[in-house]
Amino acid sequence: MSVSQRIADGRYDERVVVGGSDELAQLAQRFNCMAERLEQTESMRRQLIGDISHELRTPLTAIGGYMEGLTDGVLPASPETFDQVRMEATRLSRLVDDLQELSRVESGSYRLDIHPVRISKLIDTTVNRLSHQFAEKQVRLSAWGAGLSSPHSDLPQVLADEDRITQVMTNLLANALIYTQPGGEVTISAAKSGNEMQVSIKDNGIGISPENIAHIFDRFYRVDKSRSRAAGGGSGIGLTIAKAIVDAHGGRIWVESAGEGQGSTFTFTLPVQPRSNVSGV
Ligand code: ADP
Repeated sequence: MSVSQRIADGRYDERVVVGGSDELAQLAQRFNCMAERLEQTESMRRQLIGDISHELRTPLTAIGGYMEGLTDGVLPASPETFDQVRMEATRLSRLVDDLQELSRVESGSYRLDIHPVRISKLIDTTVNRLSHQFAEKQVRLSAWGAGLSSPHSDLPQVLADEDRITQVMTNLLANALIYTQPGGEVTISAAKSGNEMQVSIKDNGIGISPENIAHIFDRFYRVDKSRSRAAGGGSGIGLTIAKAIVDAHGGRIWVESAGEGQGSTFTFTLPVQPRSNVSGV
């Protein structure tokens, strides 16, 4: 009882001593497991606040610096200077939008609108949405598995929330574009494997080293912060959001890369619409 009181007071490292194997001992064991989970949650909460403060500080420091320079006359009051300030403000808005989205998807406080849908339709939508940006950077974007004329047009339907899965694909394609040099190539494809559909986004860009692969879906994780920032990347939340959405669909998401400079392939799965009974029963 006294340990439970101390935990209630915020001492999450407290544990009870377990002796024997009777029902009371089992209860004590469960109690310790619960205390451990509380301790982990508390440490994640602290870490999150630290990460968010850090992410907010960078653009705010930059805006403060520009403003000081303008006031002191060190920086010219030119459109370029104001543009820099605007860019930092945009970065802040994007961070806040991402955080809001992350909290929504992780808390499950949104409803997935799941219905049978053709994966080729979603691939087409995403490719059309981003084709201009790919053309601008001169990175070739090709889709097989999409389009009626493709040999993959007979793929079965998947059970998905169209908007959310389009959001995941957009995110993965946008990342592939950011981390691939001009002249490179990105391919999006889909294939049925067992009773799930596998959607892959493959690039021949900068690749990911094995030690980074393990953390790539963690919140705020970026392989190279300055490179990601300079390349137009975000705060390292995009993949965390993508994973939460795929998880909510009952799918899986992972990345494969042979290492730095070897390109990357992100794959996620979605459940396939079960074949309807021929007799209709
Ligand atoms: P960000 O918004 O910073 O890109 P993400 O969560 O989308 O955040 O990605 C996290 C990190 O994973 C990126 O900062 C980058 O280092 C790495 N990454 C993501 N996609 C790729 C890719 N296609 N090729 C190489 N690295 C990638």
